[in-house]
Amino acid sequence: MDLPDGLERGDKVLVSACLMGEEVLWKGGHDLNSQLLEALEEAGVELISVCPEMLGGLPCPRPAAEPPHGDGRDVLAGRAKVLGVETGEDITSEFLEGAWRAVEIAERKGARFAFLNERSPSCGVNQCHSGGGLAPGPGVATAALQAAGVRVFPGRD
Ligand code: SF4
Repeated sequence: MDLPDGLERGDKVLVSACLMGEEVLWKGGHDLNSQLLEALEEAGVELISVCPEMLGGLPCPRPAAEPPHGDGRDVLAGRAKVLGVETGEDITSEFLEGAWRAVEIAERKGARFAFLNERSPSCGVNQCHSGGGLAPGPGVATAALQAAGVRVFPGRD
């Protein structure tokens, strides 16, 4: 797996906890990406596991949730909420709390790069679940990290 230019040995790198094999997905289970982990290990970087949704206080498993429209930038700007897909419950504040906590960890550790789980409403990079489909934009945590200057890459296809 190709890693981005500028990544240096010893860099601190945020990685979605589910991609590291931690059982934190909304439906339970994980999305381990061994190829990514091997490439990062070879690059000699230090991995920092984060699950924004768990950091925001949500349980595992938890109901599927997404914004009814827009992407993570819209949620950050207050133009969209995050709602349970079936429950309709408003969990915007948990998503925002998790996003800011991820930013806090990145800043505290000096992480300039992150590899997050594509299409997640929190961790998506080029796409995120929204409105019953996919929106062409970042999830909430990715948008917050990008706004803080972290370079975020999809941690899987
Ligand atoms: S995609 Fe992000 S928020 Fe969802 S389980 Fe993985 S780390 Fe947590």
